[in-house]
Amino acid sequence: MQQLESAMAVSASGYSVAPLSDEERNRLASRLGEEERRILLHHGTEHPFCGGLLDNKEPGVYVCRLCGLPLFHSRSKFDSGTGWPSFYEPFDKDHIVYLRDDSLGTVRTEIRCKRCDGHLGHVFPDGPPPSGLRYCLNSAAMEFKAADASSSS
Ligand SMILES: [Zn+2]
Repeated sequence: MQQLESAMAVSASGYSVAPLSDEERNRLASRLGEEERRILLHHGTEHPFCGGLLDNKEPGVYVCRLCGLPLFHSRSKFDSGTGWPSFYEPFDKDHIVYLRDDSLGTVRTEIRCKRCDGHLGHVFPDGPPPSGLRYCLNSAAMEFKAADASSSS
């Protein structure tokens, strides 16, 4: 087993954000369901009001479905009325990559997981205070870890 980790690749909250090797990424991707692969790997978007995490109000952390990196804390989740899980700030800004996306004729900002490069959703400048941002997520791109379960690891 090979472990590549440098001081530069650890986020402020202490997680490794070193990019995954293709081999590791493929191994993790093989465990995904069809809808999860479509979104995370092929930049898909799930239908609004369908995602399994939309109405979840439990305390805990939302992690990347592909690689497990924490992405959002439940306390930053809010009801945006859009039909997608929405957050006003990330768990750690170092865990997310921002990319310009003009695929629909308008300029949007795509967000991806820093570690595995999986597609998560988009961020829009119309969110609530304090950030004024709305991170619009696909449920299928995330996995929810309830607060009780995450404290034991
Ligand atoms: Zn990831």
